[in-house]
Amino acid sequence: MRILVTGGAGFLGSHLIDRLMQQDHEVICLDNFYTGNKRNLLHWFNNPNFELIRHDITEPIRLEVDQVYHLACPASPVHYQFNPIKTVKTNVLGTINMLGLAKRVGARFFLASTSEVYGDPDVHPQSEDYRGNVNCIGIRACYDEGKRMAETLTYDYHREHGLEVRVVRIFNTYGPRMLPNDGRVVSNFIVQALQGKPLTVYGDGSQTRSFCYVSDLVEGFLRLMASDHTEPVNIGNPGEYTILELAQTIQQRINPEADLVFEPLPQDDPKQRQPDITRAKNWLGWEPTIPLDEGLTKTIAYFRDRLQTP
Ligand code: NAD
Ligand code: UDP
Repeated sequence: MRILVTGGAGFLGSHLIDRLMQQDHEVICLDNFYTGNKRNLLHWFNNPNFELIRHDITEPIRLEVDQVYHLACPASPVHYQFNPIKTVKTNVLGTINMLGLAKRVGARFFLASTSEVYGDPDVHPQSEDYRGNVNCIGIRACYDEGKRMAETLTYDYHREHGLEVRVVRIFNTYGPRMLPNDGRVVSNFIVQALQGKPLTVYGDGSQTRSFCYVSDLVEGFLRLMASDHTEPVNIGNPGEYTILELAQTIQQRINPEADLVFEPLPQDDPKQRQPDITRAKNWLGWEPTIPLDEGLTKTIAYFRDRLQTP
């Protein structure tokens, strides 16, 4: 098949492209390199099945493809809050453009949505029928509401135009190719510990997250895309940790001498998050296979190497 991956130069997109290329598909990557990097895809540059197009998805584009994986959108709060209006444009105009492209050529459309559609959840763990608790005027809203609108648009194209759609709600994912300055918690703590700097715990560190290793997530993407299920599916690792536990784990693993410092909790920071993955298990036969300890080993090795390379 010929497959379009938007945001394919980023963290998750580049891992997805690796799997698609290994399956001998033709892959077209669209990216504006806001948080993505050609370095993540260099190993495919000489392969005739691979094409890279520098393009901002807020502008329309015509391409002939069989499937679209739509991932383009900055994912880290630091990056999506840097220019919140652009984040909304990427999620709304960009998603309309990609849905329009898929509709024109009859391609199956896959949306990378997020656990952030559940906001600061008052139901725990979160299953797909929970409708969420999002502050629509807060600093996370450009992303949370942007993704909620992207889901709305996806289902409207499905109902109005019969587009085949798949929607994944991704929970916190980590692994090689996250940016060292990404601002997300796993990369921050690892880079800080490796550089001998204090690990910055926001608030008292009692808020929780559940961390999925990237290869598990991508396996879930492929199974969902190949399935017959139109409704949203959570993909994430239900292993739930407080942020303080994560800081202490990384501190012990890399540098027990490193300090922990407590900094103010950002506005609207969700207090707890854990995926209910019943749907993924029943519909896709999917569950995570890489425990946090093993995933951290691989991720720490990546950052050690990355920080030594100019
Ligand atoms: P990332 O920031 O590494 O990748 C996003 C990619 O999209 C980058 O390559 C960036 O340059 C590109 N991009 C951004 N705006 C664009 C635009 N207007 N036009 C073209 N390209 C654009 O983030 P990621 O972690 O790889 O996330 C990928 C997708 O998964 C995002 O949609 C994100 O919302 C979703 N997601 C990720 C996580 C996670 O834990 N990593 C969790 C939930 C949802
Ligand atoms: N966090 C932290 N220190 C950091 C970066 C993040 O304590 O250096 C916290 C953040 O406040 C949040 C959690 O870690 O409670 C996860 O943050 P991240 O930005 O990785 O993801 P998200 O909040 O979008 O789930």
